Amino acid sequence: MDPPSWGVGEIMVESAVVPTKYWHKLADGRVQCDLCPRYCKLHEGQRGLCFVRACEEEQIVLTTYGRSSGFCVDPIEKKPLNHFFPGTAVLSFGTAGCNLACRFCQNWDISKSREMDTLADTASAQTIARAARELGCHSVAFTYNDPVIFLEYAIDVAQACREAGIKSVAVTAGYINEEPRADFYRYMDAANVDLKCFSEDFYQRLCAGHLQPVLETLQYIKHETNTWLEITTLLIPGENDSTEELEALTQWVVEALGPDVPLHFSAFHPDYKMRDIPRTPPATLTRARQIAMKNGVRYAYTGNVHDAGGGSTYCHNCGARVIGRTWYNLHGWKLSAEGRCQMCGADCAGYFLPTPGGWGAKRQPVRLADFAL
Ligand code: SF4
Repeated sequence: MDPPSWGVGEIMVESAVVPTKYWHKLADGRVQCDLCPRYCKLHEGQRGLCFVRACEEEQIVLTTYGRSSGFCVDPIEKKPLNHFFPGTAVLSFGTAGCNLACRFCQNWDISKSREMDTLADTASAQTIARAARELGCHSVAFTYNDPVIFLEYAIDVAQACREAGIKSVAVTAGYINEEPRADFYRYMDAANVDLKCFSEDFYQRLCAGHLQPVLETLQYIKHETNTWLEITTLLIPGENDSTEELEALTQWVVEALGPDVPLHFSAFHPDYKMRDIPRTPPATLTRARQIAMKNGVRYAYTGNVHDAGGGSTYCHNCGARVIGRTWYNLHGWKLSAEGRCQMCGADCAGYFLPTPGGWGAKRQPVRLADFAL
């Protein structure tokens, strides 16, 4: 195998297979991937559960470097991030595969893809950074599927973006081990982490994963990085929406992460292997938001529903609405250039431009080939 081709310069995208460094050999001849807590133990030629990392020539390789399932310019609020340069545009993309196996996956055509023809677009890190700048995007988001499994590509893109003055955003389930976690978040300016529930039983039964590594990632991001953090919980009727569980989840967030980490409660729609459960009623999202705020979360939101109240940002000190949102359109901006409430002067947590971004609710598909040199 050739030496690593990722990490510097204009990456050649002809070869999608690159070496990785998070693995070790086992006594029985297999190779163990150490990137995520799944610790896949692979024979030569086998792929891990994520499908995109595989054992080749006695090492673990990433097989989808430089390949994407498509690029799109979105509002940053769609990630969702409500406190990271509100109103700006973000160039979003994903690859294929996932290291969790959620039965309720809302993006399963990408995350469960076994077809590499899903990966229609190829792009070097530099082309992505250039496209983001020329399209007027404030940031690039690794989204649609979990960037943990294409970490080497995501880091190279984030480095190129940093050099171009573009921020990087990870949308992730936070299921990653300690060493790669530190390597990854060094380059991420913001993250929205899925906290899928607050029960080990749910993680095991419906995601084939564990809760504790996700809690560790959340604490790591909040306390040991400069990455801006927001959290999303998809509320599934009868599975993770009980008052007891929402009390426990939101109390943990305030105690372990503090009151300034925004929480998004989003609506489930029947999909993938959970088509027999109804959509989340808006009242459930509102109840979750009220529980969060009662427990001290300063910024709690409802998502995937039309709820101007639950989608807007309020000053934690005086209660004034400082950013109004109708779907992804902003209105009634009441923050100073420094990100303070214009009524009482209290800080609003997050990162803000002096004036709101003007991207609005548009969704614009992009062909990266148009930006290659
Ligand atoms: S990243 Fe993929 S191959 Fe590695 S342990 Fe996780 S699921 Fe397995």
